[in-house]
Amino acid sequence: MATQPEFHATHCTRYRYRYSACRRCADACQYDAVALSEEGISINPSACRNCSLCVAVCPTEALAAADLPRIDILKRASGQSALTIACAPSGLKGDEVVPCLGSVDAAMLAHLSSRGVALTLAGTQHCSACAHGENAMRQLELHLEALADLKSAVDGDHWADIAVPASCGGQPSKAEHSAARRHLFRRLVGRGVDRITRPITQDDAPPAPLKAIRFARQFSTAGREVLQGLLDRAGNERQSPLPAHPAIFAAQVEAPRGCTACEACARACPTDALQVRESGVAWELAFEFSRCVGCGVCTEACQPRVLRLAPAMHHWKAPQPVELHARSKQRCDRCDRFFVSPEPADMCLACTGDDEDFASLFG
Ligand code: SF4
Ligand code: SF4
Repeated sequence: MATQPEFHATHCTRYRYRYSACRRCADACQYDAVALSEEGISINPSACRNCSLCVAVCPTEALAAADLPRIDILKRASGQSALTIACAPSGLKGDEVVPCLGSVDAAMLAHLSSRGVALTLAGTQHCSACAHGENAMRQLELHLEALADLKSAVDGDHWADIAVPASCGGQPSKAEHSAARRHLFRRLVGRGVDRITRPITQDDAPPAPLKAIRFARQFSTAGREVLQGLLDRAGNERQSPLPAHPAIFAAQVEAPRGCTACEACARACPTDALQVRESGVAWELAFEFSRCVGCGVCTEACQPRVLRLAPAMHHWKAPQPVELHARSKQRCDRCDRFFVSPEPADMCLACTGDDEDFASLFG
């Protein structure tokens, strides 16, 4: 029986950072069943039709559906040479039946294909007659396009084919395909699209206050582990850049210059991909690619607006965190403690401006 997605608020970027503009799930929903708020999202049970398209577009896996057991499907397919995944609305039989083929994400497709499982997606011939229609077809198309990008980056010529039987309306022309991709990209990523595709500059709107970041436990996602698994299995001889893509939940974060050591990005990052490392005298912001899900909330929270997601990922096999920014700590003239400051300063923030208090105590 189809079940509605469950929402885990602490995984949602909107919950973790009150000013996050993420609306991928709402844009993927054909039925306007997803309402956005500062607490995350809520799903209207009477409008939801259980397609799970919202589940497949969430980079942080804040949404889960019992009838889309992605990791279980991959486990069951292990060692098989062929697998048919059918969509429930088509009524077709398959080794696995999912709520909608548009909910089978790129990491799943790539994992199966790279393991030599010849995959058939059964039901695409019914897409145009299906109520999940337009969004489902676009999403499936986007996942197949992300699969092609992954295959090309890791030299996956040997990957097994994926059969997509006669999708309705035939294959779109290249121009239509690009237009559809751009359209969906904008719909999926919403207002965050600009922040993902171009560097954020000082000219952008001022950042929201640091207190808008909620403390919540950091986590890793199963989908990101599946993706990194297949990137790590790729041969070392050829590593082409992997283009940033809305259906590939990974990103390469860069901080070209201007980092003020405010640490907002590391606090907002849900997966601990951005890490602050400190010793007594040094401060460093490090980035661990294998944990990054490309949600982009770090770029939204960055106070000086210098953090950005690169248009292509060049170091997708990097095993260790890389340094994004480092600086030496300074010693406060007044309290003698070490502190981090964007500019050379005599006193730490806590001591600055307390001259009267200091004088009243120590003369
Ligand atoms: S896609 Fe995920 S992170 Fe974004 S608003 Fe929806 S639930 Fe939150
Ligand atoms: S580093 Fe940035 S884009 Fe990557 S998971 Fe963390 S917050 Fe999201």
